[in-house]
Amino acid sequence: MPNQIITMNTTKKIALVAHDNKKLDLLEWAKFNRGTLSKHILFGTGTTGKVLEKELGFKITKLQSGPLGGDQQIGSMIVDNEIDFLIFFWDPLEQMPHDPDVKALLRLASVWNIPVACDRASADFLISSPLMEVAYERIIPDYNSILKRRVATLK
Ligand code: PGA
Repeated sequence: MPNQIITMNTTKKIALVAHDNKKLDLLEWAKFNRGTLSKHILFGTGTTGKVLEKELGFKITKLQSGPLGGDQQIGSMIVDNEIDFLIFFWDPLEQMPHDPDVKALLRLASVWNIPVACDRASADFLISSPLMEVAYERIIPDYNSILKRRVATLK
């Protein structure tokens, strides 16, 4: 199957999301990594974004709150290459009204091969990667060719 390359710039477009029981964790983590995060472009779901912006003191583009569609907005931005890095501290011990959105977001992150950290240890490893400092070529299947082939078989 042919591949396609999407280049992530040195400046990454990072989405930050935390479920309520994980917000303090993310806040502490973000404060510790403030210097690194300040070099990138940040997005957050409504509540997470507000809390982080207040604490970090720099701009975070705030989307809707997760249960109101914020996770879906992030998924859509991944598809449009407007987000290329996801820190998502989801809560594995609580049921959420928007569980399907959580699953959908994680699925799209895999479809588009973007780095994802779902817990603090993974986030530590990702943020300290030397790849944070350079452009990176994400390899994804050539979805355009796949689509063309599928359309051709339907004629
Ligand atoms: P919130 O949304 O930042 O608005 O709390 C997070 C989520 O539940 O996905």
